[in-house]
Amino acid sequence: MKKLSKKTIIVVIAIISIIVISLIGTVLYLSLSKDVLVFKLNGNDKMTLEVYSEYEELGVTATLNDEDISSEVTIDNSNIDINKLGTYQVTYILKHDEEEIKLTREVEVVDSTSPTITLNGASEVTVKKGTTYQELGCSAVDNYDEKVKDKIQIINNVNTSLPGLYEVKYVVSDESGNTATLVRTVVVVENNTQNTNIKDIVLDSMESNEIKSMKFTNDGIYVDGYIKDNNGTFKVILCDDKEKCTIYGMTKMGDYNFFGNIKLTGLNNGSYTVYVESNNKEKAINKQEMQHRIVRAKVGDKLVSFSYDNNNIKLKIEDFAYQYDIVIDPGHGGSDPGALNQYIDEKNINLIQSKYEKQRYEEHGLKVLLLREDLTYGTVMGDSSWPAVRRKAYAIGYYGAVSRFSYSNHHNSSDDKSLMGWEIIVPANSDISYLSHIYQIRDAWSNLYPTTENHVRLYTRNYNTSVIFTKENEEKYSFTDYYAVIRLPQELYNVNHVLFEGAYLSNLSDYDWYYNKDNWKKLSEEKIKAYVTALGIDYKEPE
Ligand SMILES: [Zn+2]
Repeated sequence: MKKLSKKTIIVVIAIISIIVISLIGTVLYLSLSKDVLVFKLNGNDKMTLEVYSEYEELGVTATLNDEDISSEVTIDNSNIDINKLGTYQVTYILKHDEEEIKLTREVEVVDSTSPTITLNGASEVTVKKGTTYQELGCSAVDNYDEKVKDKIQIINNVNTSLPGLYEVKYVVSDESGNTATLVRTVVVVENNTQNTNIKDIVLDSMESNEIKSMKFTNDGIYVDGYIKDNNGTFKVILCDDKEKCTIYGMTKMGDYNFFGNIKLTGLNNGSYTVYVESNNKEKAINKQEMQHRIVRAKVGDKLVSFSYDNNNIKLKIEDFAYQYDIVIDPGHGGSDPGALNQYIDEKNINLIQSKYEKQRYEEHGLKVLLLREDLTYGTVMGDSSWPAVRRKAYAIGYYGAVSRFSYSNHHNSSDDKSLMGWEIIVPANSDISYLSHIYQIRDAWSNLYPTTENHVRLYTRNYNTSVIFTKENEEKYSFTDYYAVIRLPQELYNVNHVLFEGAYLSNLSDYDWYYNKDNWKKLSEEKIKAYVTALGIDYKEPE
C-alpha cells in the first residue's frame, strides 16, 4: 500500500472534524426547537366589580409556537353573580400533551356606592325658645343594602332652652361601610322675635337700666339699651375707681330705647363701672347669656375687657400686647365628628393637620395656641352647655383677640361625590392688608392641586341670603357673614377669622390624593410659608 502522505492525513482530519461539528450542531438544534407554549390571563388575576355592573370576560392568551390555540381553552365563569356581593373564581383550562393546565382569576363584586339621605321637612328649622323641637327624621336608600333605612343615626344636641344655632346630623352607613351624612340647621330663637339672626336676639324682660347689646367698633363700643324711668334724655356713664366719670350722650329711639357710640381710645388704663342715666344714675346691667356677651377686643392700642358680675357690666382698659402669633382651631371635636368617610372623621384629620402646623410654626419660633389638643373639646374651651358652634366662636374670639392671626382647619363633604378641591372662606369685610398672605396660599394651592374644579376657590358667604361671593380680588362686602365661627368672633371680638377646607372627604379619590399620599403636608407647608412670612420671619423647609 502506498504510504499516506502528511497532506492527505490533514485533509481527512479536517473532513472528520466538519462531520462531528455538524452532528453536534444538529443535536443542539433539535434540543432547542422544543415547542413553545404560552398560556396566561388577559388582564389581572384579581378583579373588582361594582354590584349590578357587567362582567366582561377578558379571556386568556394561549399560543403554541406562536400559533393561537385559545379555542382549546375551556372557560368557566358561570358562578359569578354580579347582583350579589362576594368573591368568585373564574377557571381557564387548557389541555395540551395529555396534560391539563389550569389558571384562575378572582372576581370580587363590591358595593362602593354611598346611601342617599333625604330629609323629612326643611333643611333649616326655626323653633322658639322653650318649645319642643320636633324631629321629623329622614329617609335613606341604598343601591344594595335594603335595610339601610334601619341604620340611620341621628345626632341631635338641640337645646331649646338656649337660643342659638344647632345642627342635627343624620349619618347612615350601608353594610359595606359606605357612609352618607346630612345636616339640618335648627335655630332656637327668643319667643318674642321672628328674627333668626343671633346678634339681633332681644331678651324679654326689660329693666330700666339695661344695656341690651354691645358691639366693638374701631375706637370703642356701640351700645343699645332701654330706660323705663326716663326724662327724655339718655346717657351712658363710665366711672373709674376714684369715681372720676366720663359721660356719653345717647340717641333716643321711641319712648324707652336708646343707642350710641362710646369712644374708649382716650380713656386711661384702669377699671370702670358702667352706668345708665336718665332720671336716676343706675348701674347698667346686661342680661344676655354669657355666650352672647362681648368679652374682650383690641381697640386701638388698648385691650378692652368686659366682665359681668351679677349682670352688672364692668370694664377694664389696659395696654394691648399680643399673647399668641397664631390661634388654630382644629374644626369640630367632642360629639361633633364633622364630615366623615369610611376611613376617617373630619375632627380627627383636622387635629392631625393642626398639630403638624403648630409644631412647624414653633420651629420658626412662633407662639401658637391650639383650641383643642385631642378629640374632645379640650380644656381651652372649657366645660360648657353651649352649642358647639357658639363655644367655638367664643374660644376663637377670646383667644383670637390677643393673637395676630387665627384660623380653623376643616375638610369638606358633599352628597355630590364628584366634588373635589379646596376652599378658603374669609370674612366679608376683610381687606387686602389682611388678606395678602391668603392670596399667596390660594396661588400656591391652585398650583399644587390636581384639579381645576370650581371648588378650588376663595370666597365669603352672605348670612341672610346664603349666596356665595368671590374674594378672588379685593372685594369688600358689608353683609353679615354666613359662617358662625367667622361672624361671631368679628361681631363680638373684632377678630378676622379664616376657614381652610383642605379637601373633600366624601370624594375618595380627593381624600386619597390629599391624605393617603400625604399631599396635605404640602398644602400645610404653603400655609406655614405664607403666615411666617406675614409675621416677618424667614420660612424654613421641614427637615
Ligand atoms: Zn368642618
